[in-house]
Parts: sequence; structure tokens; C-alpha cells
Amino acid sequence: MQRYSLLSLARHALHDHRDWRRNFGGRPLKSAYDVVIVGGGGHGLATAYYLAKNHGINNVAVVEKSWLGGGNTARNTTMIRSDYLTKANAEYKEFALKLWENLSAELNFNVMFSQRGYIDLAHSDGQMENFTWRANTMRHRGIDAEILNVDQLARLLPEIDVSPATRYPIHGALYQSRGGTARHDAVAWGYARAAHDLGVDIFEHCGVDGFKIDGHRVTGVNTSQGHVSADTVVVSVAGHSSLLAAKAGIKLPLESFPVQAFISEPLKPVINTVINFNMGLAYINQTDKGELVMGGGLEPRNGYLPRGGFDRIEDVVSRIITIFPSLSRVRLMRTWAGIADIPMDGSPLLGESVVKNMLFNCGWGYAGFKATPAAGWTMAATVADGKPHPLAAPFSLSRFHDGYSHDEGGVGPTPSLH
Ligand SMILES: Cc1cc2nc3c(=O)[nH]c(=O)nc-3n(C[C@H](O)[C@H](O)[C@H](O)COP(=O)(O)OP(=O)(O)OC[C@H]3O[C@@H](n4cnc5c(N)ncnc54)[C@H](O)[C@@H]3O)c2cc1C
Repeated sequence: MQRYSLLSLARHALHDHRDWRRNFGGRPLKSAYDVVIVGGGGHGLATAYYLAKNHGINNVAVVEKSWLGGGNTARNTTMIRSDYLTKANAEYKEFALKLWENLSAELNFNVMFSQRGYIDLAHSDGQMENFTWRANTMRHRGIDAEILNVDQLARLLPEIDVSPATRYPIHGALYQSRGGTARHDAVAWGYARAAHDLGVDIFEHCGVDGFKIDGHRVTGVNTSQGHVSADTVVVSVAGHSSLLAAKAGIKLPLESFPVQAFISEPLKPVINTVINFNMGLAYINQTDKGELVMGGGLEPRNGYLPRGGFDRIEDVVSRIITIFPSLSRVRLMRTWAGIADIPMDGSPLLGESVVKNMLFNCGWGYAGFKATPAAGWTMAATVADGKPHPLAAPFSLSRFHDGYSHDEGGVGPTPSLH
């Protein structure tokens, strides 16, 4: 394996950095694999990596229709946290957070995981009560959580306006100091490089447009580079999951919506944590390059066009400015969108489907980046062991049929709550 270190950097500098090996790709597509993973986002690549690393299964191909990490993995606002209320969601996200804490060392690739803290603002007594309940539940489970009053919040975040005269006065916050951000595309590249080194084949510009199904069992995928036989197929295509599922005759209980994000011009450090504004939805953090990254809720229409309206930008920015008035003259630089796969109860769909040996990892909506390492770990275990990983079991596709759905918001299963 080509390891990154100070020493290897110095050695390659002697040759003008011309002799680095390529990190993935370059091997021919075989006609058959043990496992084919459809989708080269963080989740698909992490699944390939843990299949090889944890289970010794490396006769694996990842087939991606465009470029690695070009889907939601590189379009998201990169917020990472495990401040969930229900047992299944909290344990899953906390497992992911623990994997994040060692991920750069594990992959020998700097994913720039930065535990700068995650702040969920409360704007009413009711929200404070709810956050206190959530913080206590998290602490009972061994997950770090603090409740901040207004003075503590102002000390942590000097730029925030906590005066009672603001449009949505702040009552306090739920704070998770281990939360933070990571460099989105580095996650895809890091997993791809490590998986490739363990023998996994990775193909960009290799889209899947159908499956071969014999009886009720999948036996292969039709790709733009030809048919490939597979014992097991893992579909990990986020917002395009229902389209691919339909090709196998499966109807998934989810809908796809565009979600926007946008960034400002780069500034000197001004916001040192991740902040979620809860009177309407708006979130913000500052990248290491200095840009302010912002986002809000779903676009108000179904679709696969990764584009959003100006009304969403105006809505988010107006909320951000109520808490950070000093940012009102900052200019926006760029906007983009991804396609979020929204399940009917806001929690992911993981594991087996009605087609034997065809597994899905989807339904992460606009909250699955934080879960990337755990999604890879648990999907790999589910494939290798032939039964759901215990952390993934509560998220089975059959739960709607069985009448067991998740209620993370405590208000009944709600697609947009996660
Ligand atoms: C604007 C926005 C903000 C978000 N913010 C956050 C956040 O702050 N924190 C958080 O935790 N989550 C967030 N998310 C959600 C997060 O980005 C996703 O849940 C996560 O990245 C999904 O990863 P993935 O690997 O499953 O999907 P993707 O990265 O989308 O990968 C799926 C891949 O499948 C490929 N594909 C699709 N169809 C085919 C086909 N037919 N054949 C082959 N390949 C195909 C796509 O090209 C894509 O590369 C956000 C999402 C969006 C859109």
C-alpha cells in the first residue's frame, strides 16, 4: 500500500511528486463478482472497504454512474452528530461517531474530521424541555450532551445575538461537543483508496440500468460497460434508490426531493462550531477555507433535478441573519443541490429486500453523511453474515409492512424529521 506520511512526502518530493501511484481504478471489469455495489458515494465505498477489511471479501466491484463521491456525499453540509432520541437511531449514530474519531488514521487519509461541536438552538420553553429530555436520554446511553443557558452560549459563540429583542429569541441550546464536520469528498476518496488497496475494483462512469433476476433472486447487474454477474448486489444510490428499485420490480416506501446548500465568500474565522436554528430550519458552519456553509429544509416538490429555488435561500439566510446580524453584508458565492431519499418515517432503510440477495442502503435523506462509516460497517456485516447487523436490524425494509416505524420526533412517524 502506498502510505502517506511525512517521510513519503519528502521521498516523492525528490522526484517532483511525479511517481505517486493512482489511488483507485485501472483494473478491468470482470464478468463476475461475489458482491457488486451500485453507487460510489461514501456509503457504497465504505461498504466495499469493510467487506474487504472486516470480512476478507474482496471479490467486490463498486460501479458508479458518474464520478466517485459526486452525489450527496460531496453536496452535503457535512454536519456530524449523534444527538438522537430513540435507541436505534442514537446507537447507530454514536457507533458512526466513534468510527469517525479514528477514521483518518484507519484509512491513512486525512478526512479532516473536526470535532468543533454541534449546537441545536432552542427558541421556546417547550424546545428547552424537549432538549433537556433528549440530553438526559443521551447521557443515560453514554453519549455526551450538555444543556447550555444563554450566557454559556454567548461565551461559546461571541458572534451570536442572544438579546431578547431578536425575532426568535434564544432560550438556550443542546450542545454535543464531540459533533462537528469532515471533508466530504475526502471521505469518498479515503474509502476508495483503502478499498482498492485491499483488492476491491472501482469503476467510474459505469451506470447500472437494470438487474438480472432469476426466480426471486438477483444474479447480476446490467451496466453501461456490460453485464456483470454477482452473488449479491448492494444498491447504495441515495436519491435514485426508488428508480433503481423499480427496475427490479420493487416499490420502496420513500420519495425523492432536491435539497439545497450554499456557501458564502471566504471569511476569516467567525463561527467556530456547527449551529442548527430551530425556528424553521437553517444550519450553518464555517469550512476550513473560510466559507460559511448553509442549508435548510427540502425543496417543496418531488424530483430528480439537483436544483433549488431562490425562496429557500432567502428563507435560510433571513433566519441566519436574525442570530448573526454581523453577517448581513456577506455575499453568497455558490449554490447547489442534491437529491435526498426521504422515507415515510424519516429513518433509513437498510438490508434485504423482497428480491433475494439484493440489499438496499437508502432512506438517509439529508442526514446520512454522519452515518457513512456505520452504514458501510453494518451493510458489510449484513452481506457477510447473511443476517442484519444488530444495529441495522431496526431499520429493515419490512418494518412498514410489519407496522413498526420510527418516531424520532415524538410526533408520529414524519418523513422530514430525522
Ligand atoms: C444539500 C444536502 C445537505 C446535507 N447535509 C447533511 C449533513 O449536514 N449531515 C448529514 O449527515 N447528511 C447530510 N446530507 C445527507 C447526505 O449527504 C447523504 O445522506 C449521504 O451523503 C448519502 O451518501 P451515499 O453514499 O448513500 O449517497 P451518494 O453520495 O449520493 O452516492 C450515491 C451514488 O450513486 C450513484 N448512482 C445513482 N444512480 C446510479 C446508477 N444507476 N448506477 C450507478 N451509480 C448510480 C450516484 O452518482 C452517486 O454517486 C445532506 C444532503 C444534501 C443533499
